[in-house]
Formats: sequence, C-alpha cells, structure tokens
Amino acid sequence: MISIHTPPQPTDLGDVRVANRAVVLRHVRLHAPCSRADIAAHTGLNKATVSSLVTELIDRRLLRETGLTENRVGRPATMLVLDGEPYAGLGLQIGADELVVVAVDLGGNRLLTWRRAFAAAAATPGQTVQALAALARRAINRVSGQGRTVLGLTVGVPGLVDTDDGVPLAPALGWRDVPLAAELRRALRDPGFAVGVDTDANLAVLAEQRHGAYAGTADLVHLTGGVAVGAGLVSGGRLLRGGRGFAGEIGHVPLDPAGPVCACGRRGCLAALTGVDAVVRRLLPDAAPDGPVADYLPEVERIQALARSGDDAALSGLAEVGRQLGHGVSILANLLDPQVVVVGGHLAALAPWLLPAARAELAARTLAPPDGGCRLEASNLGSAASALGGATAALATVEAGRLPAA
Ligand SMILES: [Zn+2]
Repeated sequence: MISIHTPPQPTDLGDVRVANRAVVLRHVRLHAPCSRADIAAHTGLNKATVSSLVTELIDRRLLRETGLTENRVGRPATMLVLDGEPYAGLGLQIGADELVVVAVDLGGNRLLTWRRAFAAAAATPGQTVQALAALARRAINRVSGQGRTVLGLTVGVPGLVDTDDGVPLAPALGWRDVPLAAELRRALRDPGFAVGVDTDANLAVLAEQRHGAYAGTADLVHLTGGVAVGAGLVSGGRLLRGGRGFAGEIGHVPLDPAGPVCACGRRGCLAALTGVDAVVRRLLPDAAPDGPVADYLPEVERIQALARSGDDAALSGLAEVGRQLGHGVSILANLLDPQVVVVGGHLAALAPWLLPAARAELAARTLAPPDGGCRLEASNLGSAASALGGATAALATVEAGRLPAA
C-alpha cells in the first residue's frame, strides 16, 4: 500500500491508537473477510486491543460483521469486512478536454463517475476553478443525498504541485502560480472537509496501486496520457515525490533536439512527441485547421479506425510514436527499475499499435539483461484513473486511523 501523506509517527497513546486503527483497517482491506483472531495473529496486536478497536470501528461503520463463519479449527468466528458505506471520497481531474469527478466509498466501491467537456487550456484558471467547483457541488449533492458524508476531495492536475497544494507551473494548461486548493476551497465556500491537490500522475499511480491490474506491485510507474505526459512513481511501495514534490516530470525530458516545440518552451520533450495533441497532429494533419483540437476523443477514435483498417501511414506514425514512448520509458526503467510501467489516457487507447514498438525500444535501451524485465502495459482503469486516485487519496486520513468527525 502507498500513502499519499506520510503516516503519523506514534508519540503518545492517542497516536498509538490511531496507528493501530490504521493497521486493523489495512489488514481487513487486504484480507477480508477475516476474524478478530486473524487480525490479532497477523498484526501482532493483542486480542483485547483488536477487540476494542473493532468494536469502535463497527460503531463508526468503518467495519461490519458479515455473519459468515469459518469452520477450520476451533469454534466458528464472526467475519469482518470493510464497511465505509456512510463515507465517500471525491476525486477530480483536469484532463485535456474534460473535467472528471469520481466518488468512492471507503470500501473502494465506485459511487459515481461523471465527466463534462471542458477545454482547460483555453480557459482561465478562474474559469477552470468555477467549473471544477460546479462539478464537485453536483457530486457532493448526489453523495450527501444518499446519506453519505464526504470526507475529502483531491484534484489531479497535469503539472507541478507544491507543498501548499498550489500549482506553480502547468505548461499543458498554461498555468503559472495558481493557488488551486485555496481557490477551490473558496469556490466551495469552505465545505468542511479537506480539499487537496496532487499531480494527475501521482493520483493515477495511487489508483493503479489500489484498483488496477497490477495492484499491490511495490515498484510501479503510471505514465499519464493526455496533453501532459507525467509519471507517478512508486518505488519500494512508496510514492516518490522528490524534495519539493516535483518528481516524475519525464514528459519534459528532451528526447529529440530537432523535435517539435513543447508547451514548456523547450524542444523535443517526450510530451511534445507522445502527448495527445502531438499524436493527433502527427496522425491527423487535417484535424486542427482552426486552432487547437478541443475534443480529443473523436480524434483518437479516428486514429483507432485508421489503424484497424491497416492504413500504412497511421501504422507507421503510431510505431514511431511507440518508439519515442519506449525511449522515454527506458529512462524510467534504467533509473528506477520498476516491475511494471502502465500507460494511461490516449496511450492506453492506442496501446495495441504503440506498445509493440515501444517494448522493442525499451528492450534495446535498457542496460539490465536481457531486457531489464520491466513490463510495459496499458492501464485498464480507463480515462478517469487520476480522479479515482484522487477519491482514494481523499480517504487517506481515515485509512491512516483518524476517525471521521462524528
Ligand atoms: Zn517540455
């Protein structure tokens, strides 16, 4: 498991109880259904402590008894599963041409996934904040109408996020120094729960680690596909943020000095070669005669149709993008030695035509023999991975053992 925030270090008895609560919740999340005795046996907590914590967690509807029993050795035991139904986390993501909101309950059940078309790159930061707030309000109303309490909201941004949850720079959106969390909190009129911001890549890898096909992988990278290409890095089970939170900007590693100009102003960055606008421009030269493409989905579908029909130009264009993708991934593989790199967004949608060339390039450029053993795969989480990760992150304080306000 990875946590978005550093877990609290136990310093007094209250903190110890918080930490123990987190241990119990985590055990049940990973091993449910399980009994009180299982929890004690596997966590090292004594039975009385487990019993007291479980009573409290059932009381707060974070756990529930299933009534199932196991008939192995000894008397049957009451089995426990995560409940969490009364609580929801919200995640929002700012995509290339849409805003997405996802709500999940503490048991990991997805309550809603909504999108609205929105070209953030063409809007001002203020307009984007208002649109995010409107979408969040609708989701909050729906979730509270179901009798659930929203515990937090986290927004994924294709750009840099600082420790104050501001956005110092997001080239794909044309943003500089946007205090996003503060403005969103104000737009939501101080909603009474935590409003956080993280990079879309960090949230996507959190979703991947929890809900994806490679969930639980200790060394895992999610490479976002969209107008920005960024990496969420999990190494040794922990999210790698770097000193100021700016790690993972593989999208702005220059790969081709003669390549196209990137949104960051440099030339030939991975994002300028493999971002969705670059791919659309390369594969569909007729797509944007009057300015930037604002709705990428139909364009990506057109590229899929061309590739399926065996169009030579489309196939060779996709193979070239795939080689550049593989080049970028080889840098991650040589540096971090992940078990799996998962690609999302348009890179996942176009994976059947991108990944063969990308894998060959990755193998050719990875030092470790025979090919480094790093798998390159498409995400199965769809285009709402960052919002799903944001909703998961919004529940982090409860997962860390803090009880929701009564
Ligand atoms: Zn760049």
